[in-house]
Amino acid sequence: MRNKLIKFTEATVGKKELYAIKKTFESSYLGLGKKVKEFEKKFKNFIRTKHAIALSSCTAALDLSIKVNNFKKGKKILVPALTFTATAAVVLHNNLEPIFVDINKSNLNMSFEDLKKKYTKDCVGVMLVHFGGHPCEMEKIVPWCRKKNLIIIEDCAHVCGGEYLGKKLGSWGDYGCFSFEEKKIMTTGDGGMLCTNKTNKVNIIRSLSYHGQNKDPWERNLKKKKKTWDYKVVNLGFKYNMNNLQASIGIEQLAKLRQMNKKRISILKNYILELKKQKNLTLAIDYKLKNSCYWLLILCVPNRDKLLEFLKRKKINASVQLRPLPLHPLYKKFNKHNLYNAMKKWRNFISLPLHTRLTKSDIIYVTKCINFFYKKNFNG
Ligand SMILES: *Cc1c(COP(=O)(O)O)cnc(C)c1O
Repeated sequence: MRNKLIKFTEATVGKKELYAIKKTFESSYLGLGKKVKEFEKKFKNFIRTKHAIALSSCTAALDLSIKVNNFKKGKKILVPALTFTATAAVVLHNNLEPIFVDINKSNLNMSFEDLKKKYTKDCVGVMLVHFGGHPCEMEKIVPWCRKKNLIIIEDCAHVCGGEYLGKKLGSWGDYGCFSFEEKKIMTTGDGGMLCTNKTNKVNIIRSLSYHGQNKDPWERNLKKKKKTWDYKVVNLGFKYNMNNLQASIGIEQLAKLRQMNKKRISILKNYILELKKQKNLTLAIDYKLKNSCYWLLILCVPNRDKLLEFLKRKKINASVQLRPLPLHPLYKKFNKHNLYNAMKKWRNFISLPLHTRLTKSDIIYVTKCINFFYKKNFNG
């Protein structure tokens, strides 16, 4: 038995990030400032949107994406049944109602067929989650949403740098929201980014993210000749901005993102090769390993909970990533419609460790343990 614990996720941070923080630290400008602006510029060039606004989290980005539209109270937003609570919580925070949409059979994304069924005249927007990093069928969903006048918010918390039909995820819809929380594709400890081409919404987003002021402190400092202390509170705002310390980590992470995503793809390839030998399990997503960015390796397995316990004894931290939201007490009352695939499938989901520090021998060890488990218990 191996002594090394195989972690579920692990941030790819090192000397470069440390040096970048040190430099920012020594500059003693730690808050909202130059580094944040630099990170925003690099990020928007990378995603290829006109604007990128750095924030304290993806949740803040999702919240502001809804808020800037001033939807009437009680209107409805279509949300995939399988996602993290933040995707639907921001709907409730804005006095709107989430309508849960079922997932596909071949991947865990929102089903386009069910989306069309769940749509009513009261719907004003759609939250699209590229679950595990797998792209939603944007070429079908986006034109349909445009016809229905629905605002499209891409929750890109599971994907950073992935492309679909040659276009970066996060640039297809009206707003692309990214997460730099420590477990995600790239990290700033905590943090998020809101990408958009909607130039007319940028001022209000920036204002809402910084106490509703008409100028943030960085802008005030730039205009040195004028009164730097002067600003007006024009909106009921939040404290959602990113700071220079986070941004200096983000700049380094973005510089190595391509390498990190390449590594994840090569790890996935190795896993899939080994896993194909085991007939008891199937991949929950049809992985497309080209110009992609996958955050999760999810399998569909029999006896999921027993396998999880067994792997834990073998020092492998596998996990169940996300149960359908209507199974949580907060969202129970919104479960009005048929969510057959999500409710049926999630009980067999298991997510395996996936991060850039996994070695080939780690992968062989994990897959051997899984094979052993099924051979021993089920003659698999
Ligand atoms: C992690 C996650 C979020 C929230 O990200 P934060 O940066 O922690 O706010 C939102 N949506 C999904 C699907 C997530 O997995």
